[in-house]
Amino acid sequence: MLYWTEMPFTTIRPQRQPVGPGRERRPRRRRTIIIAAILVLLLAAILYYVGTHRAANDQSSMTLTPPASSKTKEQQSVTSANGVGDKVASDDNFNKKQYSNDDPASLWVIVNKRRPLQPKDYAPQVAAPNVPLRLGASNPEMMVSTKMVPALESMFAAAKKDGIELMVASGYRPYSLQVSVYGSEVKAYGQAEADRESARPGFSEHQTGLAVDLEPVSRQCEVQDCFGDTPEGKWVTEHAHEYGFILRYTPTGEPTTGYRHETWHFRYVGTELSKEIYRLNNPPLETFFGLPAAPDYQ
Ligand SMILES: [Zn+2]
Repeated sequence: MLYWTEMPFTTIRPQRQPVGPGRERRPRRRRTIIIAAILVLLLAAILYYVGTHRAANDQSSMTLTPPASSKTKEQQSVTSANGVGDKVASDDNFNKKQYSNDDPASLWVIVNKRRPLQPKDYAPQVAAPNVPLRLGASNPEMMVSTKMVPALESMFAAAKKDGIELMVASGYRPYSLQVSVYGSEVKAYGQAEADRESARPGFSEHQTGLAVDLEPVSRQCEVQDCFGDTPEGKWVTEHAHEYGFILRYTPTGEPTTGYRHETWHFRYVGTELSKEIYRLNNPPLETFFGLPAAPDYQ
């Protein structure tokens, strides 16, 4: 602002330097005052113009602000938190129908003890991600759905930047592999316990290629509860949703999902859903989509 008020005076002043005797001072001073007044008026006019112009801009940008329906999730959660009787703070604008829950190739497919894959021997398109793998890259179990590969690689890279070295313990499990995994679980622990820990063939989320079991490169707490307490486990618990993953089997989810808490099992659903699930404090997918609980095989 100083620039605007001072510049006219400094440029004009030299022309008004008194050259004659002192008697000329008074008219000159008056002239100076008049000119100064004119300049002040001019300046005021300019400022007024700029002010109204900017206000007009603000108004047009205000009309461009998104309507209530596209408020950010944070804004909505605040609104919901203050809303009466809106205890779940669910986002009414979240389109839960965007992807199928039934199509085995869908990002949002829900597989559980009452929702087998259809067909039961469904096989997705899979590839080995370029990350540390527990077994050789040609082993199908080290592969994941091609839909998940870029997200998994990004997440591993981000973890590494934080000094966290993750490894894939288990990814895609073909129908035939699930037959043998489940079979050996039943042999070792009996059917009831096997059903709690492992899925029957055709009922495993791993068969979609969208589930992955993670572990530290050190293999500490491999597929054990204590993975959640390792630095790697803590990191993924905190950051997986940023890359499209959710903790699928939570401590409170067993009556709904039919599986006990699995700190290592992550499901890829894409960031849109993973961030929403995380924001809602990890409800089971069944709860989020309003599907029946699946505590057992019926
Ligand atoms: Zn798993």
